[in-house]
Amino acid sequence: MAEISAVNYILLALVLAGALASLGRGLIVHWKRIGHGKAFFGPRIDCASVRDKLNWPAFVSRAVFTSRLKDRRWSGIAHGMLFAGALVLIFGHAVYALSFVGVPVYQGWFGLIVMQLGREIAGILLFLGVLFFLLRRFFPPERLTARVTRPGFERMEALILLTVLAGYTSESFRLAVAPTGGAEFIGNTVGAFLHEHFDPDARLLGFTLVWWLHGLLGATFIALIAWTPMSHMLLGPVNSALANRRDGVNLPAVDFDAEEDADGNPVRFGAARLADLTQKNLLDASACLWCGRCHEVCPAAQTGKDLSPKKVMATCAEFIAGGRFDDDSLIEVLGREAIFNCTTCAACIQVCPVSNNPAEIILEFRRHHVMERSSMPDTMAAANRNLESRGHPFVGTGANAADWRNGLNVPIFEPGKTEYLLWIGCSVAYEPRAQEIARAMARLLDAAGLSWGVFEKSGCTGDPAKMMGNEMQFVEMAQANIDEFHEQRVQKVITMCAHCFNSFDRYYPELGADWQTIPHTVLLDELIADGRLRIASRSDQKITFHDPCYLGRHNGIVEQPRRVLAAIGELIEMPRAREQSFCCGAGGGNYWGGQGGTARISDVRTQEAMDTGADRIATSCSFCTLMLTASAGKHSETRKVYDVAELVAERIRIVES
Ligand code: SF4
Ligand code: SF4
Repeated sequence: MAEISAVNYILLALVLAGALASLGRGLIVHWKRIGHGKAFFGPRIDCASVRDKLNWPAFVSRAVFTSRLKDRRWSGIAHGMLFAGALVLIFGHAVYALSFVGVPVYQGWFGLIVMQLGREIAGILLFLGVLFFLLRRFFPPERLTARVTRPGFERMEALILLTVLAGYTSESFRLAVAPTGGAEFIGNTVGAFLHEHFDPDARLLGFTLVWWLHGLLGATFIALIAWTPMSHMLLGPVNSALANRRDGVNLPAVDFDAEEDADGNPVRFGAARLADLTQKNLLDASACLWCGRCHEVCPAAQTGKDLSPKKVMATCAEFIAGGRFDDDSLIEVLGREAIFNCTTCAACIQVCPVSNNPAEIILEFRRHHVMERSSMPDTMAAANRNLESRGHPFVGTGANAADWRNGLNVPIFEPGKTEYLLWIGCSVAYEPRAQEIARAMARLLDAAGLSWGVFEKSGCTGDPAKMMGNEMQFVEMAQANIDEFHEQRVQKVITMCAHCFNSFDRYYPELGADWQTIPHTVLLDELIADGRLRIASRSDQKITFHDPCYLGRHNGIVEQPRRVLAAIGELIEMPRAREQSFCCGAGGGNYWGGQGGTARISDVRTQEAMDTGADRIATSCSFCTLMLTASAGKHSETRKVYDVAELVAERIRIVES
């Protein structure tokens, strides 16, 4: 602009260079802090190791299109406005620099649509979007202040507002000095007013001063980005680009043979301090907004237990900021009760706008308690001892693993002959209520004419051990199961427990498993669809479906059980359904724990199901059936909770008669 001298531009360019240097320095500090974690990319960071970890779909959907905010109408709209506004303005300012080398960026359709009208509208979008977030700091939803509040956002948001206002004022003075008749409708209106009320010298002086003010405010914002909560603008997208490719909890394997870690230190299992976590875990904590969306959906936090995933992330972030990477007191500050409250439901992972995975961090601390300190709540410890001594976690059960077969002619799996193994698992084998699920499945598999069988002896996948933090026990049990499956030449496995399915499908392959695992509701859906199971008539009863976390959120299996239920009755939904389902409370070994707080998680979920007015509550995991049955029993003597297979078997029985 001719009205601003070249000296001013050179000086402002120097200021901007300083701001960018501050930004770069801040990012280097983050990089160094994150580098204190265990190697994430492997021994060497190169193109192959980075390519191996990149998750482009997550980056595009979560970082570019902010898909994790789609269910939050107002904050989603506000974030979209400020994001779109900021992009256009950054682009516009970058293009503006071309005018210094003679490119006519303000002319033609580009000048009119982008540089004049586009930037004018972008400023409004940015201003309103940021204003929404600033005002909300003064009237915060509970999640923002729950357990801990992050300071610093409001100052940066106020700084953005002032920068935008200074930008409009600068533009208005520019147009007051030299009107162009362009499409800057705000600048033209205010500029006309200034033109009328100020003489040319005052207008030029005002333009110069406000131009500088706008430049300095913008430079200050850039300089502070990496040192304030606004760092999430850069760390969040990087975190999303490095997110797990598979939804849910993906606990890394433990190398029990290693004596030293990559840095030559004695191996420690799990985490007690930041240096025991991975670099990705530290990036998670660094990118965390403390927004509390995870707290809001966490079943433990919402039932008043010690755990808050937001608090865990915030505490890790505070230790990172304080440089306390080797401080073992972190695990004490987090608290043992909180660490064992986690049901591994993955709700926190599913809602996090910057793709954090609090559950994996929590479980690393749990692993340390169990494998390094032999420390866990008494009820979980008893279940663990039972797993080690008897191969299942059901302490003091009077049931015999073969009880469920009494009175049924159940085929035994024959290698090379039988197509499907019906995997019974520990809860179905040792809990009388869950045994009925297996009996229903046996009837359905026979009715469909499938070649199926069971093992003489029922086992446990080891999932309870793994999720309670006892990885060593899990590996031992998994390897014994894999050996037996290979010996029996098993190719296809049907599971009735969501945890068994998840273990077989997610964790067993890295230990050598090579079979296909099918959740029973997925199989029932296929059998009904291809006519091998025929429903005699639909019931007029209303059924609501509780999505087990380990099928819905962890593995995306939400439609199949619904299709099955829709074939046999009237399906009605709970407010929290599919991937947004609320946990039953059993996961992460909390079937044997789950104490404390203001309510039992299963009671809250059962009440939600009852509030739909449904005649029956259906689910598709034996642990969910047990948890919801116990809670529903407090309200009604009549059985309310059923596995999907039991409901289908009722309808099939009509066909058989
Ligand atoms: S982990 Fe994610 S959802 Fe939880 S507070 Fe941090 S940014 Fe928010
Ligand atoms: S996995 Fe579930 S229980 Fe655990 S912290 Fe996350 S939301 Fe809470």
